[in-house]
Amino acid sequence: MKSLNTFEIKRKQTRQIHIGQIPIGGQAPIAVQSMTNTDTRDVSSTLRQIKRLEEAGCDIVRLAIVDSDAAISFREIVSKVGIPLIADIHFDHRLALAAIEGGASGLRINPGNIGSQQAVSKVVAAAAEHNIPIRIGVNAGSLPRKILKRYGSPSPPAMVESALGHIHILENLGFEQIKISLKSSNVLDTIKAYEELSERVDYPLHLGVTEAGTLISGTVKSTLGIGVLLAQGIGDTFRVSLTRDPVDEVKVAYEILRALNLRHRGPEIISCPTCGRCEIDLFGLVEEVERSLEGIKTSPKVAIMGCVVNGPGEAKEADIGIAGGRGQGILFRKGKVIKKICEAELAQALISEVKKMIN
Ligand code: SF4
Repeated sequence: MKSLNTFEIKRKQTRQIHIGQIPIGGQAPIAVQSMTNTDTRDVSSTLRQIKRLEEAGCDIVRLAIVDSDAAISFREIVSKVGIPLIADIHFDHRLALAAIEGGASGLRINPGNIGSQQAVSKVVAAAAEHNIPIRIGVNAGSLPRKILKRYGSPSPPAMVESALGHIHILENLGFEQIKISLKSSNVLDTIKAYEELSERVDYPLHLGVTEAGTLISGTVKSTLGIGVLLAQGIGDTFRVSLTRDPVDEVKVAYEILRALNLRHRGPEIISCPTCGRCEIDLFGLVEEVERSLEGIKTSPKVAIMGCVVNGPGEAKEADIGIAGGRGQGILFRKGKVIKKICEAELAQALISEVKKMIN
C-alpha cells in the first residue's frame, strides 16, 4: 500500500528504449538490474541464479560472456528464461555477434574497446537488425590512456568525455538505441559524472557505483550515489553492486526505490532499534516476520515496535502493527487495536494478519 507522500520526484525526460519487454527511460518505472556471478558456461547454476533474481523482482539480468563456450551457453540460457538478458562483452566483437544471434535483449559493450572500426560496425549493424539496445559502460578504472593523460585522473569530466566519444561512434553509425553508465567506486565522482552527462544527453542512464563493497559498505555507497541521483530525477535503471549474493543487490535496490517513493515491492517493515524499555525479543520477531513475508509483491506497511512509548503511535500509522509490552504485544490493524497477544504467538499473529490483508 503506497504511502502518501507530499514530495514527488520529477524525473528527467529521457528517450525510451526497450530491453526485451522492459521499457527504460521516458518516465517508465525505474528498472532494477543485477548480474549473475556464476560461470555463464555452467548453465544449470546460472539458470538457478536467474530464477532467484527474477523471484526477488529483478527486471533485467546481465551475464558475462567471457569466451565462445559462454556464448553457446548464453543461447541455451536465453531459451529457458522469460526475463530479458543482457550480454556483457569486452574486447572480442565476435562474442557480441554470437550473443545477439543467441537472443540477447541488450548488449553492454564499449565501442572503443570491442575491436576495429569494421568490427564495431558489424556489431552495431547486428544490434540494429535485432532491435537490441547497447549500453555504453564507462568505468573510471578503464578509461582510454589518451583521456587519462589529458585530464590527469579518471575525473568526472574525463568519464563524461569517454562516454561522449563512445556515443559519437554509435551515432555516426546511425545507432541511437543507447543507454549509458558512468561508474566509479568513488561516490562523489559518480554523482558528478552522471549530473554532467545528464545535462549533455537525453539517452536513458543506467546508474551504479561500481565495486561498491560488502553488504554494509556497498549498500551505503550505492544508496548514497544512486539515491542522490534518483532524488534529482536522474537515472532510468540501476544496479546495486555488492560483493555478495546478487539477490541482495535486488533487495537493496527496492529499498532505495521505496525510500524515494519511486517504486514499491514487498512489505515495508518499520521496526524500532529497541532500548532498555523493550521487554520482548524484538530482533527475533522482526527476523521471523521478515523471513515469512519474503516474496510478497504488494507493499503493506508493517510496524514492529518494542514498547508502548512510540509503539502504539507507529503501529497505528501502519497497515498492521505490533507494540510490545511485558511478555506480550498489542496487535493493530489500520489503526485499530485488534487484541493483546502473548509473546510466543506474536510473530504468527502478525504474519497471518498481513497475509489476510493482502489476499
Ligand atoms: Fe525503545 Fe520503545 Fe522506542 Fe523501541 S519503541 S526504541 S523499545 S522507546
